[in-house]
Amino acid sequence: MTQTALIGQSPDELKASLIAAGVPEKAAPMRVRQLWNWIYVHGANDFASMTNLAKDVRALLAGKFTLARPEVVTEQVSNDGTRKWLLRTGKGIEFETVYIPEPDRGTLCVSSQVGCTLNCRFCHTGTQKLVRNLNPAEIVGQLMIARDALSDWPSTGENRRVTNVVMMGMGEPLYNFDNVKAALGIVTEGDGLALSKRRVTLSTAGVVPMIPRAGAEIGSSLAISLHAVRDDIRDVIVPINKKYPIKELLDACRSYPGVSNARRITFEYVMLKGVNDSLPEARELVKLIKGIPAKINLIPFNPWPGAPYECSDWDQIEKFAEIVNRAGYASPVRTPRGRDIMAACGQLKSESIKLKTKDRMAELESAALQRMPS
Ligand code: SAH
Repeated sequence: MTQTALIGQSPDELKASLIAAGVPEKAAPMRVRQLWNWIYVHGANDFASMTNLAKDVRALLAGKFTLARPEVVTEQVSNDGTRKWLLRTGKGIEFETVYIPEPDRGTLCVSSQVGCTLNCRFCHTGTQKLVRNLNPAEIVGQLMIARDALSDWPSTGENRRVTNVVMMGMGEPLYNFDNVKAALGIVTEGDGLALSKRRVTLSTAGVVPMIPRAGAEIGSSLAISLHAVRDDIRDVIVPINKKYPIKELLDACRSYPGVSNARRITFEYVMLKGVNDSLPEARELVKLIKGIPAKINLIPFNPWPGAPYECSDWDQIEKFAEIVNRAGYASPVRTPRGRDIMAACGQLKSESIKLKTKDRMAELESAALQRMPS
């Protein structure tokens, strides 16, 4: 008999699972609270450790359910402390998670899909053939694995090592809306993993019609992979721009709920030599986002084997940053982390078997888009 996985279930789903397994309906809400606490506050790996549950209840649960995480295929630790895990949940279903420690925070970069359908020209993930949406168990599982490996339980402790989650791993989170929403609901649930919504950032290449829904239903911080200030350039490097051009994207940002100076939108801008890094473009960038409470994150391009671009020269990045800074935007240049283990931004690409066809990509995209409000 296969055991049902509990990680990734919402409280309501968990309750239904317990009742189906024979837990009396009256006792179910209390059992949900107890289990939720064991699973997401203490990171329990098995039911035997759940000492406030009667032995027969533990036995019942152990017979029907599992708290298994995704399988860790490899764990790599960079000389700067960055860690990368390759995880697997089935044949060819492999995805990566990266932990980036900084003095004031620890950020987990989480994947939303195996591969990606967007084909941004500078991104390594876009060259991967297999594409599949990750389910809530696989998305939440990435945080569970990181906390396990970092001995970062209980999740309510003072000095947590994972303090922030960014949906900036493999995949486009807004093309996997329902699963990402469910997973982030669990990640931000106050009695469990308890990361505040401010510390969770969803990054999108610009699936414009889903942005209002992300604001209303997920409510996390928002990051936009802008990368160019003109449609003709963005059409090439972030091809989804042909569907949703810059103006529409920025309009969606202007009306993103909850945006204020205390809650800014992050604009990511990858520095590609001779492509998008001229100083007039820096000036155009600050003009474009005028009126939007924003941070600008300049990302030195991280090369990968066969990449069609080079990173801008360092002094060009500095001059570009200076213009942005002078316009009043904090614009930290994101230092590449974990380069030695290919964990830097946009280098994530699992070695999954190449199953995907163009049709499969189209299917995923249209499924995501069908759920959009009209
Ligand atoms: N699909 C989402 C999230 C994944 S990518 C999005 O596009 O926002 C996370 C960030 O890394 C994006 O800003 C992406 O454009 C950037 N990125 C991708 N490849 C990169 C590379 N080789 N060097 C630097 N940044 C890269």
